[in-house]
Order: sequence, then C-alpha cells, then structure tokens
Amino acid sequence: MTAPIEERIGGEQPLTPAPIGRTLGVARPAAWRLALASLLGAGTIGAAIGLMGTAAWLISRAAQHPSESTLAVAIVGVQFFGLSRGFFRYGERLVGHDAAFRVLAEQRVRFYRHLERLAPAGLPAFRSGDLLSRVVADVDSLQDLILRVIPPFAIAVLVGTITVGLVWVLLPTAALVLLVALVASATLVPWLTGTLARRDESDQAAIRGELTASVVDLIEGAPELAVYGANDAQLARISSSDRELTKVATAAASTAGIGLGLTTLLAGLAMWGTLMVGIPDVHSGRLAGVWLAVIALVPLAAFELVSGLPAATQTLQRSRRAAARLFAISDAPAPVPEPAITVAPPNRPVDLEIRSLWARYPGAPQPALRGIDLSVPQGKRVAIVGPSGAGKSTLASVLVDFLPIERGCVTLGGISLELLAETDVHSVIGLVGQDAHLFDTSLAENLRIGHRSATDAELSASLERVGLGDWLDELPEGLASEVGQYGARLSGGQRQRVAVARALLAQFPILVLDEPAEHLDLPAARALTDDLLNVTEGRSTILITHRLSGLESVDEVLVIEDGRVVERGTHDELVELGGMYASRWLHELNSGQGTSESLTTHVTGQALVGGTPERSSEAQLRERNRWV
Ligand code: ADP
Repeated sequence: MTAPIEERIGGEQPLTPAPIGRTLGVARPAAWRLALASLLGAGTIGAAIGLMGTAAWLISRAAQHPSESTLAVAIVGVQFFGLSRGFFRYGERLVGHDAAFRVLAEQRVRFYRHLERLAPAGLPAFRSGDLLSRVVADVDSLQDLILRVIPPFAIAVLVGTITVGLVWVLLPTAALVLLVALVASATLVPWLTGTLARRDESDQAAIRGELTASVVDLIEGAPELAVYGANDAQLARISSSDRELTKVATAAASTAGIGLGLTTLLAGLAMWGTLMVGIPDVHSGRLAGVWLAVIALVPLAAFELVSGLPAATQTLQRSRRAAARLFAISDAPAPVPEPAITVAPPNRPVDLEIRSLWARYPGAPQPALRGIDLSVPQGKRVAIVGPSGAGKSTLASVLVDFLPIERGCVTLGGISLELLAETDVHSVIGLVGQDAHLFDTSLAENLRIGHRSATDAELSASLERVGLGDWLDELPEGLASEVGQYGARLSGGQRQRVAVARALLAQFPILVLDEPAEHLDLPAARALTDDLLNVTEGRSTILITHRLSGLESVDEVLVIEDGRVVERGTHDELVELGGMYASRWLHELNSGQGTSESLTTHVTGQALVGGTPERSSEAQLRERNRWV
C-alpha cells in the first residue's frame, strides 16, 4: 500500500518558509538591474495610464467639436503613450529576465558547489530526484521572485503615488476614492491571497520534490521494478503524489481567481466612486466636463498596477518555501569544513604520510578507521585489502577530503591535509571509485574532464595505456562516440578503464583506485587489475581491493580489518606469514581466481607449514564468507 504523502515527505514537513528578508536577499546581486527593470515597468504602466487619460480627454473634447489645433497635443500624447508603452515593456522584460537569469545562474553554481562539498558523506539524507527538483524547480521559483514579486510592488508604490497625485490636482475627492481602492487592492487582497496560499499550498515544493524523486526512481530502477513486479506500487506512489500536486495546484488557481476577482471588483467600484464624486462637481462647475472621463477611466488603467499583487504574494509564499528547501542544503554543514586559513599546495613530487589516523562517519557510534599508519613516498604503490566493511573506502574518503580526520594526521608533501583547500587536495589526489561516473556525452568529452586542453592524440594514448587501444580503433566514430547515460554503451570493464584513463590524463601525483574491478567478472577483473598495475608503475598509487590477484607487483600491502591494520608487508612476506592474507590468497587460488599453478603449490605448502590442513580449510571457509 502506498504510504500517505505526508509520511513520504515527512522529512520536509517541519521546513518552515524562509524569512522574507533572506528570501529577497537572494536577488541582492542583481539589485541595480532590478531597479532599472522596475523603472521600465513603471514606464510601461505609466504609459498605459497616460494613454487612458489622454484618450479619455481627447474623446470628450472632440465631442465639443473644437478646432483641430486644440486636439493636436492630445493626439501626439496618445501616439507617444501608445508607442512608448511597447518600448518600455520590451526593455522591462529584457532587463528583468537578464537580472533573473544572472541570479539563477549564481544560485545554481552556489548550490552545486555546496553539494560537491556535502557529497558523498553529507548527502544520504536527500533522495537524488528530490535534489534534482531542488536544483531545477526550486531554483526556478526564485526566478518568479525576481520577475513577479519584487518589481510589481516597487512599481505599484511609485506609479500609484504619481497617479493619485495627478488625479488630486483635478479633483481631490476622486483622488481619495482612487487611493482607498488602490490601497485596499494592494494590501487587503494580497493579504487574503497570501493567507489562503499559506494554508492551501504549504507543501507544493515538497510534493513536487517527492513526485520528481519517485519518477526518477521509477526510470532508474525500471528493470528491477519490472523483474520484481513492483511497477504498480511505484506507479501508485507517483499517481498519489500527482493527485496531491493537482489538488494543491487547483487550490492555487482558486486563490489566484479570488485575488483577480476582488481586484476587478475594486477597480469597478473605484470607477463608480470617482463618477459619484465627479458628477456633482461637474454640475456645480468646479470641474470641467471633459475631465470627468479622465477621472473615471484613469482608475481602470491604474488597477493594472495592483492586479498582479495578489499573485505576487502567492508567488512570494511559494518562493519562500522553495528558498527554505535550498537553504536547507546550503546551510547543511560540510562534513569536512574548508580551513579558515589555507596554505599553498605542496610542490611536486608529493609524498603522502598517514600517522595514527582515526576517522568516524558523522553520528556513527564506532570509528571506521582506528590508528592507520602509512607512508607513500612519490612513486610507491600500495594495496589496501581486507574484508567488506573493513574501512578501505573510508580511507579513500579521508584522503580526498570527503570525511574529516578524527585523530592523527595526514600530510601531503609535509603539509597537513587539514590546512589545504579542498580543490588543492583534489589536484594532488585523484580518486577513481567503484562506480566512476561517465557523462552522457562523447568519449572525448568524458576524458577531457581530466585534462581540458588534451589533444585527441593524448586522449587516444591514454586509452591505449589502459588497454582500450584496439577497442578505440574499432569504434566507427572513434573518440566522438557517445557513451550513453552512465556509460551504458560500454561494458563495465570499459567504463572503469575509461575512468582510469581520465585520471591518468589529469596527472594526479597520487592516484587512489577504489575497487576498480568491483563489478567485473573474474577474468575481466584480473585483466583490469593487471593493466592498472602496469600503467601506474612509478606513480604513487593506492589500490583498494578485496581481490588479491596481481598484488605481487605492489610495494606494500596493508590488510585492514575493523579499521585497523592487521598485517602489512609485500605480497611474498604476507604469504610467508601464513595469516589472514595468505588464507585469502589460498582461497582465491583454489577457487581459480589466482594467477599460476606453481604459486598454488607454493602457497599450499606455506599454509601447511603455518597450520594444520583442517585449520587451513576452516580459515578458508571463514575468509570466503567475509571477503565478498
Ligand atoms: P570497505 O570499503 O572496506 O568495504 P567501508 O570503508 O565502506 O568498508 O566501511 C567501513 C565502515 O564504515 C563500515 O562499518 C560501514 O558500515 C561504515 N560506513 C561506510 N560508509 C558509511 C556512511 N556513509 N555512514 C556511516 N557509516 C558508514
């Protein structure tokens, strides 16, 4: 059964709208452009009011059959206001949208930058579809804030004051009627729509986030959902979110309708009111008859000033909620804060030193690393092995600044990691993860992420180095070949090799390869590991793996268990030791994962020297269960 929407967006429920000041503050960088857009907008409505007033006077005066010269100025006025209105409107749209898009671009970049600092340790609290909705729909809502909230209020105040002042000159009582009607439209009606919007549309952004998240889940998990027959349940979730969103959108439309209706009513009342006070004055001769049409028709045009305000208050409510969702991300503390004072990055070559390193995931009761020591002078290659959950990937996360150091220290070229800016750390240590991401673009573009100005020859050479030379030659479109979403047109092994080629192009002094062969079958995994070890010769490399094949060529192997180094040495030394590593190695050989027959004999001999055959097979069984 599909859980009620309130439960599904439960995490968002307590999110109160962002304060108005902070929400409006988003537009501060575009303040001057917004001011100009508001002035041009004031010109647009001012021209509309001027057009109405001049036309009303012209028609009334023309009824008296005066000489043509008497009407000439008014005719020019009508032409001027009619034409200038279009120009003002064009300018207002141009400047306003320019301001909005600048703010949006800045907000998106800021949002992405913060996301980058949060990932991966700080993001589990957010679903990917929901994040997508925040970065697209919620940031878009800020566009409405800039175009449909701030200028309408500014224009209403400016042009409203001038219009009432001009009518005051003709007939003060009519000006009072207009003032009361305009103020009521600018305050009471928006207050009412704002209140209704707060009540009825409270969850719109959160429901939209839930809907996007469910749709993304459905698309990404389509094969699994189809296999397990769970499509219907997922579709039911989507329908339920969609129904909720429709309900909220209907409520929003009703609120907008109420606002528009009330404004139109007040405009009509203002026109009748000015006529009521104007007609007696015309009878008594205090007001010339030709001005009566002006006084009666100007309010109709003037209401264009306030007709957008109810919608603007509704939009403001929506923007405040969207802003709260964005601020929730931008206020989330980064797992590893940037140092207050950063120092210059180390000169190459860069030695890496890890001393008594302890690390813990935020909120985790137990540390994931407990006192790791490791020296990686330039060019040394180290393998980190151990059962699943031992802390291998955690070490990689600490090295690339995704997770803070709890105790101990890590230095790069003698400089503490904690004193280096994250971008500097990332320019020294490159990480190729288990699921290295390939973008849905060409092979060349994916590779150039590592080195923007790399030539095609350099790209081909890097693919050659990771064993993809023949494959590249066979591709009809070569480097221009599209890799598909997440690299779907490539095999798992090819994807990982492309990711490594990308990292090689980036020329990181230190390369961390985290289970590069994790999702590959055994022969492909072995081939990839062998090629990686060949290609990284002479380059500082930390290879994290739970498979031991090929580790004869690394300088040091660290066996980690429960966050501690339990064994260390070269492959041969560890096999000699007859401990956990040797036992796992033996298991790999016996199950056909090893590399040579002669080694099987050698290691079997070692294992028998280290313990009884019974102990050996028991240990193998235990290891097999844990090292998967
Ligand atoms: P390995 O890479 O050796 O399989 P990890 O380094 O991923 O192991 O995990 C080490 C320990 O940290 C495990 O107990 C795991 O449950 C825990 N852990 C891993 N990632 C997180 C996380 N994001 N939040 C909390 N605990 C985590």
